[in-house]
Amino acid sequence: MLHLLEQTADQWQTWFADRELPAYRARQVRGWLFAKRAGEFGEMTDLPGALRQQLAEEFQIWTMHTAAHRTAGDGTEKLLLETADGQRVECVLLRDDRQRCTVCISTQVGCAMGCVFCASGLDGLARNLTSGEIVEQVLSLNRLLRAEERLSHVVVMGMGEPLANLDGLLPALEAATGRDALDISARRITISTVGLPGGIRRLAGHDRAYHLAVSLHAPDDALRNQIVPTNRKVGIAKILAAADDYFDRTGRRVTYEYVLLAGVNDQPDHARQLAALLRGRPALINLIPFNPVTGLEYRTPNPATTAHFAEVLQHGGLTVKIRHRKGERIDAACGQLRRGEGK
Ligand code: SAH
Repeated sequence: MLHLLEQTADQWQTWFADRELPAYRARQVRGWLFAKRAGEFGEMTDLPGALRQQLAEEFQIWTMHTAAHRTAGDGTEKLLLETADGQRVECVLLRDDRQRCTVCISTQVGCAMGCVFCASGLDGLARNLTSGEIVEQVLSLNRLLRAEERLSHVVVMGMGEPLANLDGLLPALEAATGRDALDISARRITISTVGLPGGIRRLAGHDRAYHLAVSLHAPDDALRNQIVPTNRKVGIAKILAAADDYFDRTGRRVTYEYVLLAGVNDQPDHARQLAALLRGRPALINLIPFNPVTGLEYRTPNPATTAHFAEVLQHGGLTVKIRHRKGERIDAACGQLRRGEGK
């Protein structure tokens, strides 16, 4: 059986054309899946019965099953999905008071980057997710929305390093942006990377300009090498050069993420160095106070330290946002997603 969500819009149309079925039937099925949030062909009541049956014989819509579904008081929901080969990934639905509905999706089972403060890489990398599995996360979360809610944003900030799996991610994002699919504007889709210069440049040449977020976390290579080990192979200068290039080619302002680890990278001096490093760039700094991870000893700075860090950056001329924690009670916050038992 073919995985329906793995088909590109072109492949999907070709399937109908090859069988001399009208092109609008292809759009109808996509409309049922994306806009009407259908779960099976049987629900697609305006399709001829014979076509529904043929589709059901040849295509599988869902290849993953929900192993756990948790809901937090702030409206955050987390799904633990199990793939056909028994791998587990997590993805999250976030709601905010401005009626934004954001899905946070994973691109890999585990992660190979080894950032010392993150749960996702603790057990290493098992494999890339397929584009169909990535779309499936988006649609599974979409189906959790109430009728009056609409998916407005996608953040690729779940498990894995998205730029290490662009072949899976880019076709999947076509389903998010496609007019006949979810029709979400590219500017509302954020791809967060540990900073792989080759991947950033490839993304800059792509025909849709997504919002890029770079996980910097330290103002110099000595400190970054310690907390983001993959930095030893790259170095901050090359990452910033690629990010500058991204801005030049797309016109999209780049966000720099900075996880605050108490006593490690949260001192006023770090903020001053960071301001100096990024000065003159049209950058947004997103401060993320550390979210606790079972088994890791790092601590969250107190609110006053975080606020002071932000002020120093602002005095240095930078635009700063502090990312407020969501879904913490269900371990759905940044860096808490894992392959584990779905805690
Ligand atoms: N691999 C991508 C996506 C990771 S998740 C990347 O590195 O950007 C999105 C953000 O959460 C990253 O900036 C990541 O460094 C951060 N993060 C990871 N663990 C965290 C933790 N325990 N607390 C707060 N933020 C964390």
